[in-house]
Amino acid sequence: MTAITMKARLVRALYVLIVVAVLPFLIWNGFIQQVSAEWNDIIVRLRGAQATSATGAVALVAIDDQTAARYGPLPLNRARLAEGLEVLAQAHPRVVVLDLLLSEAGEPSQDARLARSLGHFPHVVLGAALEGDASENPRWILPLPELAQGRSTAHVHAAPDADGDVRSVLLVKAGSARRFWALGFEAVRLATGADRPLESAEAVSLGPIRIPATDSESRLMMINYAGPEGAFPRVRFGDLLDGAANLTQFRDKIVIVGVTAQGSGDRLFTPLSSGIGMSGIEIHANVVRTILDRTFLVPLGVAGELVGSLLLIALCVAAIIWFRGVRLFAALTTVLLALVAAGFLSIRAGYILPLGSFLAVCLAASGIGGISEYALLSRALAGETTKRKEYAFRVQAIAHEIKTPLTAIQGSSEMISEGGMPEQQRTEMAGLIHKESKRLTALIQTFLNVERLASGSLSLQHQQVDLGVLCQEIVERGRLFAARKRIQIETAIADVRVSADPDLLSFAIYNLITNGVKYSPKNTTISLFVEESDSEVRISVADQGYGIATADQERIFEKFYRLKRDEKSAEEGTGIGLALVKEIVQQHGGQITVESAPNTGSRFTIALPRG
Ligand code: ADP
Repeated sequence: MTAITMKARLVRALYVLIVVAVLPFLIWNGFIQQVSAEWNDIIVRLRGAQATSATGAVALVAIDDQTAARYGPLPLNRARLAEGLEVLAQAHPRVVVLDLLLSEAGEPSQDARLARSLGHFPHVVLGAALEGDASENPRWILPLPELAQGRSTAHVHAAPDADGDVRSVLLVKAGSARRFWALGFEAVRLATGADRPLESAEAVSLGPIRIPATDSESRLMMINYAGPEGAFPRVRFGDLLDGAANLTQFRDKIVIVGVTAQGSGDRLFTPLSSGIGMSGIEIHANVVRTILDRTFLVPLGVAGELVGSLLLIALCVAAIIWFRGVRLFAALTTVLLALVAAGFLSIRAGYILPLGSFLAVCLAASGIGGISEYALLSRALAGETTKRKEYAFRVQAIAHEIKTPLTAIQGSSEMISEGGMPEQQRTEMAGLIHKESKRLTALIQTFLNVERLASGSLSLQHQQVDLGVLCQEIVERGRLFAARKRIQIETAIADVRVSADPDLLSFAIYNLITNGVKYSPKNTTISLFVEESDSEVRISVADQGYGIATADQERIFEKFYRLKRDEKSAEEGTGIGLALVKEIVQQHGGQITVESAPNTGSRFTIALPRG
């Protein structure tokens, strides 16, 4: 495994860890849960009105604005209420539900008439509410005893979420040492003739109907709304009083009577309500509908949410690792669209997905993953750019190095081709061409060898090298090069043999000498020393040149580094020579050092281990 893939894996492992670490905050966060609820609201609205058998089982009687205008003020006088109920009784409904709080004693004769009117129905459910729910001493507001006698009492509470929308109902509400079932639930129980409900930790059973409302979630049941307000047949209470209502539509039904007049306060917001909220009786009817149709909506639950989120993280991470560019975008978009589609399908199947949490998880995984991948990519890109630059420089360097011998070959061959040259001179020129072309081959070979050595694909060709002979040959070449600046080359060479690659070592020493010539003024001297100690052989090249400032002394061994001063000078260079020298010396197990002071001169020393 290369260092880069190692690093990439580490970065990826790190971002998966970060996403998993923030997972609980993403899932169990009030805001995100709210987003989940909103998403599901959108889906519920998009799927439109639902066919429901409950429209044939439920009818509503609305004490609406017109009723209030004619027979008000609200609350309606009990005698009026009794009068309407007496008309309703003629229709023989199965259960009558009064979504009204009849807790305060009224005029006795009117209360007595109301009690008598309730006696006409086989089943009546009366509303109760827990006052001061959040306080220390909550109190049940119960219907008057003479009305409640022998009849069912049920709670009228809805259970709004933090945003005020009613998405669920508490099937049973407890407080002040008593508990009451929900109005809609009790209506279904009486209508279906079920016995007392059976409760388990996971559900409440009403005869054959099993309602998934867990004890741990306070028996909360999600309401599966049939549609916006108006999904159930409805008659005005005023029409009952006027005798204008068609009574047949109440026969054998659950009839829910309640106030719908605006300003009555009995309106609440739901995912399907309009700007003025949904009336209480419509919400109760939807509770009845959810139970009767058994269209329960079950939230995914903690374990499901966790497993789903981990799966999504895995998907997003895989997409980020496998795909790039448009494909990555397409993959992530597909995940998001699939999520929304899953939300649609799951609501049909009776499950509510935590879409907000899932979307947050996807966005977090994609976001954090994307940033990490971007960082990795830009690193890799920067590395590539540097390599490309180095490559370009290398090509330049090689081009430059081969230009000099090529020019000599060109010039000489041109002169020969012009003819008329004495035989002896022609032979000399041909010799020069031969020598230069050999040098050219050697030069290219050196470049290639150093590159291969550095990459580890070539090992040194060690042999016993007589440094005296090697240096003599180098100095001869060096003198030719130094002649143009009238620079002298002195030598003090001990008779030493060393194990080395002669071509490469020769390249290194020659380079130090030509540098000495290039970076020294005319008429100076360069000295080449070869000394030996017990442990090493030291080859030094000293000049009386321009010198190198301390700050630059480390950097001159970097590839393509040149002093600013020399970049502008007439001396050609590429900054690669010393990098190659250093590579060669290191491959021999040695070291190269420099001592230098500006305008005094420099001394480069190659120390090679003996033996
Ligand atoms: P090049 O000579 O092609 O520029 P090198 O790698 O051989 O490349 O040298 C790197 C730089 O170090 C040179 O450009 C020059 O600025 C500086 N340098 C090398 N040798 C000497 C020297 N003997 N005296 C002063 N400066 C030197």
